[in-house]
Amino acid sequence: MNYKSDVLIIGAGGAGLTAALHAKESGASVRVLTKEYPTRSQTCMAQGGMNAALANVSEDSVEAHIANTLKSAHGEADEEAVRFMCSEAINAVEWLDSIGVCFSRTADSKIAQRTLGGASAPRACYAQDYTGLKILHTIYDRCLSQDIEILNEKYLLDILKDESGVVKGAKVLDIRSGDIEIYEASAVILASGGYSRIYDKNSTNSTASTGDGIAAASRAGAKLIDMEFVQFHPTALKNSSILISESARGEGGYLLNSKGKRFTNELAPRDVVSRAINDEINKGEEIFLDIRHLGEELINEGLPQERKLAKLYENVDPVHELIPVRPVAHYTMGGIEVDNKSKTSLDGLYACGECANHRVHGANRLGGNSLLEIVVFGKEAGLNAAKYALETKNAQSELVLEDGFFEEIKECKNEIDFYAKREHVGNMFYKDVGIVRTQEQLKSALLEVKELQASLNLMGVSDKSKVYNTNLVEFIEFKNMLEVCEQVVSSAIKREVSCGAHYIV
Ligand SMILES: Cc1cc2nc3c(=O)[nH]c(=O)nc-3n(C[C@H](O)[C@H](O)[C@H](O)COP(=O)(O)OP(=O)(O)OC[C@H]3O[C@@H](n4cnc5c(N)ncnc54)[C@H](O)[C@@H]3O)c2cc1C
Repeated sequence: MNYKSDVLIIGAGGAGLTAALHAKESGASVRVLTKEYPTRSQTCMAQGGMNAALANVSEDSVEAHIANTLKSAHGEADEEAVRFMCSEAINAVEWLDSIGVCFSRTADSKIAQRTLGGASAPRACYAQDYTGLKILHTIYDRCLSQDIEILNEKYLLDILKDESGVVKGAKVLDIRSGDIEIYEASAVILASGGYSRIYDKNSTNSTASTGDGIAAASRAGAKLIDMEFVQFHPTALKNSSILISESARGEGGYLLNSKGKRFTNELAPRDVVSRAINDEINKGEEIFLDIRHLGEELINEGLPQERKLAKLYENVDPVHELIPVRPVAHYTMGGIEVDNKSKTSLDGLYACGECANHRVHGANRLGGNSLLEIVVFGKEAGLNAAKYALETKNAQSELVLEDGFFEEIKECKNEIDFYAKREHVGNMFYKDVGIVRTQEQLKSALLEVKELQASLNLMGVSDKSKVYNTNLVEFIEFKNMLEVCEQVVSSAIKREVSCGAHYIV
C-alpha cells in the first residue's frame, strides 16, 4: 500500500517536530514517522539548556555568541550559518516561550540563564535540568493540536527516488506488523538524530542514535561531511555513561583527581576538558565531579535530575559525595551535508537536527547550541521543504522500487552473534577512534570494520517471526552503524592534522 503526503519527515525529535509545525503552517500536508515514540526521542534527554544572547542576567550580545561558537569550531564552521543561527536564537526562545515551554525564571520573571562551557556569558536558557524534555513535549503538544499525523514504530529502511534521481519517498518497516510500506512525498526531511551509539555503551546517547538516516542518505547518494568530528562529553557517570550535565560545572562544580586536586579549567570547551581528563586517567588517576559546595538547596532547585541520576546509577548523593565520571561519546558534529536552506545534495531531500551538518558546530559544538540548532534549522527545513513540495507536487514521476538493503538482510544466516560484535565495535571505537587517535589505530579500526561488514551475511537474526521483531530491527541498526563507522574512520584517516574533537598524535 502506498501513502502520500507533500512532506514526509523521518524522526520525531525536536528537529523533526519543529520542521513538521512549520511545514504544516506553510500549507503542506505533513506526515511524521518515528521508529520509537515522539516523547522518547533523544531530545528529551537534553538537560543543560539552549543558548540565546538574551542578556537577562548579565551583559551579552549576539556578536559574543557568534565569536564563542566560531572559536570552539576551530575554523571548521560556516560563519554565515553561525551568524544566522545565533541571530535567530532570540526569536527561537521567544517562540518556545510563546507556545508554553516552562523556562526557569529570574526573581524578576525574566527567562533565567546559566553559563555552559566556552561561553563568555550566562547564555543558556533552561527549565531546571529538564530543558530538552520540556521543549520536546511542548512542541509535540503543538503538533497534536495542529492535527499533524505522527506514526510510531515505523522504521526508515531506504530513501526512494524517481527515475531521474529526485527523492520521492521512503521504504519503511512497520515494526508492529512486520510489513514493508511505501511512503510517497514531494519532499522528504531527515531528522533522525546522530550516531554516537556506534560507541555502544561508551555514549550518553539514546539507544536510537544509530545513524540510520545518515546511512540511508549515503546509500541514496547524498554527501556526508566531517564524520570524524565526534564530541566526547567530559562528565558521564563512570559506570553507566549517563550524562551529568555541563550545567553542574556551570553552576560552579569542580573536577578533581584521586589526589583531590583540580587539573583543568572546568568551563573550557568540551574537547579541551575531555582531553585533560583523558590525560589524568592515563596517569592512573580516577576523576570526580565535586558539587558538594553548591549546597542542597541549589542542587535541588537547579540540578534535581543530576542528583537523582547520580544516586540511582552511581549510588552516590552529590550533596555529600563526589561523583565518579569519565568522558564518553556524546554528540556527532558530522552528518548529511546541507546548504543554508537545509537542502541536501539530492533534489527533494532535506535534513535538520543532529543527522544534518549545517556547519554551525565545526569541529567542536558548544553546549546549548544543539537545542538551538534543532529549533532554528528545524524551522528552515520545514519551510523550505514545504515550499519545494508545493511547487513540484504536480510533476509526473514514477518511484523506482528495487530490492536492496532490506532484502539482503533477510538472506543473512545466524552463525555469529551480532550483539557481541556491536559491543566489541563500541569498545574498539572508544579506544582507537576516541578522544586521542593515531593513524595506526584508525587504520586498524577501518580494517576491522571492513572485516565485520564482510561477515555480516553470517550475523543475521535468530528470531524469524514477522510481528514486532526487535531482533531484526537491532540487526538493521547494526548494519547501519557499520556503514557509519566506515565513514567516520575513513574521514578521520584523511584528516591528518588535529582539529577540535579530532585529536591526532
Ligand atoms: C544526555 C544528553 C544531554 C544533552 N543536553 C543538551 C543540552 O543541554 N543542550 C543542547 O543544546 N543539546 C544537548 N544535547 C544534544 C541534543 O539533545 C541533541 O543533539 C538533539 O536533541 C538532537 O535532536 P534531533 O531532533 O536531531 O534528534 P533526536 O531527538 O535524537 O530524534 C531523532 C528521531 O529520529 C527517529 N529515528 C531515528 N532513526 C529512525 C529510523 N530508522 N526510522 C524512523 N525514525 C528514526 C528517532 O526515533 C527520533 O524520533 C544533549 C544530548 C544528550 C544525549
